[in-house]
Amino acid sequence: TYTLGPKISDWDQQRKVWLSQNPEFPNFVNGKARILLVTGSPPNPCDNAIGDHYLLKAIKNKIDYCRLHGIEIVYNMAHLDRELAGYWAKLPLIRRLMLSHPEVEWIWWMDSDAFFTDMVFEIPLSKYDKYNMVVHGYPDLMFEQKSWIALNTGSFLFRNCQWSLDLLDAWAPMGPKGPIREEAGRILTANLKGRPAFEADDQSALIYLLLSQKEWMDKVFLENQYYLHGYWAGLVDRYEEMIEKYHPGLGDERWPFVTHFVGCKPCGSYGDYPVERCLSSMQRAFNFADNQVLKLYGFRHRGLLSPNIKRIRNETVAPLEIVDQLDIRRSVHGQS
Ligand code: UDP
Ligand code: MN
Repeated sequence: TYTLGPKISDWDQQRKVWLSQNPEFPNFVNGKARILLVTGSPPNPCDNAIGDHYLLKAIKNKIDYCRLHGIEIVYNMAHLDRELAGYWAKLPLIRRLMLSHPEVEWIWWMDSDAFFTDMVFEIPLSKYDKYNMVVHGYPDLMFEQKSWIALNTGSFLFRNCQWSLDLLDAWAPMGPKGPIREEAGRILTANLKGRPAFEADDQSALIYLLLSQKEWMDKVFLENQYYLHGYWAGLVDRYEEMIEKYHPGLGDERWPFVTHFVGCKPCGSYGDYPVERCLSSMQRAFNFADNQVLKLYGFRHRGLLSPNIKRIRNETVAPLEIVDQLDIRRSVHGQS
């Protein structure tokens, strides 16, 4: 049967020794766990040129967030494993990065079609001290309804540890392209509420695994206090209202941390929504976030759909007053 690689069973021990021998690469820096954000897109150009432009906006948005919060970032465009192409590609990639970056404490996968829309909010990592995986989801949808959207694998975190390697091993077997993925898709559709008939996808396979082997749940945190993943359709039309009533840093429905364009395929050929609606909604999410970045520099977009910006304050001879007031990195540290 299919495996992600040679079975490793003493990773915690190997990593511990390595960390003690390499103190210049600590897994905690100034008391904060080292995080590596991982994202990527297919190795070839999009079917349509505009799709590549939106991939560029999406990576700029992630670079901005990561720069502001001291998070490292990897962008992958290769298929590390021929069998696990497409949405399954994140599994071998996450495993490879865990093993190649023992100094990283948390690996954070984020889909290319997910945007940070709260540039101030930070993941409350201390809440997850006893957990090894954090994913947006709802326990009732999961265990009562067995819904195929009980959780979302567009944005989730894995601790770099043996447990995570084991989970990846248990998760991967439905992934190999061809008859295995096709047959697994039938099992998933038969068992998960609301799932259309199609080949096995990583999200359904994870839900099915957690439902059929509940022990895993001891270390999985289903987060729904804030939008680690937020479904775009209910959010993008409310940005103006949010700007009027609230402020960044909340991360929940008042000011969503992440807006994820589930069902949109701006880079591919077909999605569940008209491509025009997807693209304009993405533009809005991008500008909503970019305004939070541009504020420090004294600019904002002319509107949530406009690529153009305008000045929001006059130049000053005391620029550091602005820095003290508006630098997101300081406001975050001030909160903690
Ligand atoms: N992905 C990738 N390489 C591929 C296909 C997908 O890196 O060849 C990543 C990409 O970041 C994408 C995610 O996997 O957002 C999930 O794949 P899916 O096909 O579900 O795309 P989405 O609907 O999220 O655009
Ligand atoms: Mn996605």
